[in-house]
Amino acid sequence: MFEKILIANRGEIALRIHRACREMGIDTVAVHSTADADAMHVRLADESVCIGPPPGKDSYLNIPALLSAAAITGVDAIHPGVGFLSENANFADMVQEHGFVFIGPEPEHISLMGDKVAAKQAAESLGLPVVPGSHGAVTTDKEAAEIAERIGYPVLIKAAAGGGGRGMKVARTQGELLESLRLAKAEAKAAFGYDVVYLEKYLGQPRHIEVQILADAHGNVVHLGERDCSLQRRHQKLLEEAPSPALNADQRAKIGALVSKSISKLGYRSAGTIEFLYENGEFYFIEMNTRLQVEHPISEAITGVDIVREQIRIAAGIPLSMAQSDIVPQGHAIECRINAENPETFMPSPGTVTDYHAPGGLGVRVDSGLYAGYRVPPYYDSLIAKLIVQGQTRNECLMRLRRALEEFVIEGVHTTIPLHQRLIAENDFINGNYDIHWLEHYMSREDEI
Ligand code: ADP
Repeated sequence: MFEKILIANRGEIALRIHRACREMGIDTVAVHSTADADAMHVRLADESVCIGPPPGKDSYLNIPALLSAAAITGVDAIHPGVGFLSENANFADMVQEHGFVFIGPEPEHISLMGDKVAAKQAAESLGLPVVPGSHGAVTTDKEAAEIAERIGYPVLIKAAAGGGGRGMKVARTQGELLESLRLAKAEAKAAFGYDVVYLEKYLGQPRHIEVQILADAHGNVVHLGERDCSLQRRHQKLLEEAPSPALNADQRAKIGALVSKSISKLGYRSAGTIEFLYENGEFYFIEMNTRLQVEHPISEAITGVDIVREQIRIAAGIPLSMAQSDIVPQGHAIECRINAENPETFMPSPGTVTDYHAPGGLGVRVDSGLYAGYRVPPYYDSLIAKLIVQGQTRNECLMRLRRALEEFVIEGVHTTIPLHQRLIAENDFINGNYDIHWLEHYMSREDEI
């Protein structure tokens, strides 16, 4: 097993990884920008290295600085966390070339799944159902119009290099299609430097359901059931739950087995997630995330499996510590993403946290690096805390979540806590009756009131 790991990330996820390492007897090296010198992940780590000025590109995305930090501290392995370099095949490659272990999949699998056109083709060949659309990139207007005609409007134009919900455009008519195509390409070029796009049928009422897997270097694959991440704003997840209120035991077992089989065929190694849209009883692959996900704690809550610990063990070449039959999901879990944002306008709200009190009690977990006096910097993602609540039933989980949100005190910055409180009081949410478009409809209804 590794003796020392460098955590190439910041915030709550760096803390999450640090915690797994400490429980495994592994020393940690935190890295930080000058804006994060006082961050909790830095305070708790065994060692820390400043890797540059605040902007991400000069610090957390600065590969030479990270590799130097790894070399001077003498670590065995590097964990990329989520976001930043976690899906950068070049980084994974360089980490290995410099003699460190990359805690993640093979670079080939990262690049395959990072190109969404190639990923969709791979998914099809692995036997996963995909959203009807173009089989590959769309180059000419004529081709786009023919495909859209065949699959039927509305259609979605997606960037092959897309991520975080960016680079997507809906076209409802042929007239809109050509204009949207041009816009999508220009946006993709600006955001990702790569303007390849493809077409997909736009689904009107899907849920977002994803399956978490773990695969070791010895051919063992398990799935940890599904997460329902349908509560989204601008294609960004806000609240996630496991299991999905929309699936029965039979559907759950079927999709889990199908995903495990395809992961085996792919020869993938590490933690990963296959994301689907789910509509009228059918699953449609949309992408695979070849990394840890923000919402992984809800799968941990219902299965008792420490996903980060398994990810580290897999990278060290150790077989999975459980078989599929050992995984028996219990109860229900919900995660609320708490962002430093105005809950009405979603404008970022950096600043000093003047008072902080995290909820506790049975079934309550808070992953956060906040403390009173901490300054939320303006440079990074606005996620400042994750509240994860578990109950024996969905109803118990909801009651507990309501109670935990009431207890949560974060003063000095705006947060999305009041939004979560409103959402979980809505009948549609209580009844599990929502799809990926529900939140946008809900917000626009509120504007009219
Ligand atoms: P990204 O990599 O940018 O996150 P995804 O392909 O995972 O892109 O899609 C993100 C979100 O966009 C999904 O969770 C869903 O809300 C929406 N979406 C993606 N594909 C479709 C589709 N074909 N129809 C309707 N909504 C879609």
